[in-house]
Amino acid sequence: MTPLYLFPGGKPKCVTFSYDDGTVHDKRLVEIFNRHGLKATFNINSGMDYPEKLKKEEFAEVYAGHEIAAHAEFHAGLDRCATTDAIREVWNDRLALEKSTGCPVTGFAYPCGQYSDEVIKILKAAGIEYARTVKEQHSARYIPGDFMQWDATSHHRDALKYIDAFLDEKRPLLQIFYVWGHSYEFNRDNNWDLIENICSKLAGRDDTWYATNIEICRYIKAIRSLVAGAGGKMLYNPTAQTVWFMAGGWEFNDIRCIKPGETVSF
Ligand SMILES: [Zn+2]
Repeated sequence: MTPLYLFPGGKPKCVTFSYDDGTVHDKRLVEIFNRHGLKATFNINSGMDYPEKLKKEEFAEVYAGHEIAAHAEFHAGLDRCATTDAIREVWNDRLALEKSTGCPVTGFAYPCGQYSDEVIKILKAAGIEYARTVKEQHSARYIPGDFMQWDATSHHRDALKYIDAFLDEKRPLLQIFYVWGHSYEFNRDNNWDLIENICSKLAGRDDTWYATNIEICRYIKAIRSLVAGAGGKMLYNPTAQTVWFMAGGWEFNDIRCIKPGETVSF
């Protein structure tokens, strides 16, 4: 039968966060994520400068251990500006952020969730690997078919509604619990206890992979890139990632992995 694929370490569940706009309140949020051993992606519009905004010189230190992703240089709605503007918004954001990260910045969150088919083409041409919308799936069972239109599970305001279904699931089904928002909302709404509560429920679980958005995107794409034998008993891994799977159907007792370049029979 077709193997059931798992996240790294043979884990069936994954948790990730995506927070936008790069304000000073991200410092407190990062401290909370770090204390709980959680991983997040921070989407930054690098051209904006206002008192609440983190300074570029701070990005590398504040976001260490997490992903920095692009969010359009000046937060332009990319479906309502000139194509050339959209190209520059994405490209200049990448250029600025890569000075902080020292590695390619290829994640993206659509400013105000605004996009179109044309915008997706622009992002792909600019080397973006995934882009987050502001739509919500309300179930961690959702895995994006197209990573250029990646919906979250929930904004943080409603995340607790969907956590129990995620935590209680015992079957080896790939699940991604994906929370998005803005850290300034916790400051504005005076509800930092909400994110503390969400994090403490999700943290420290043996069945869960804690990952940034780009790590998840690349891992799922690696699964989809495996070359399977016609008979369902062989796999070749042409990617640069080790991929985990269960060879024996629905039992959690035959967890295996296939290394980059390896062919396995089972
Ligand atoms: Zn934004």
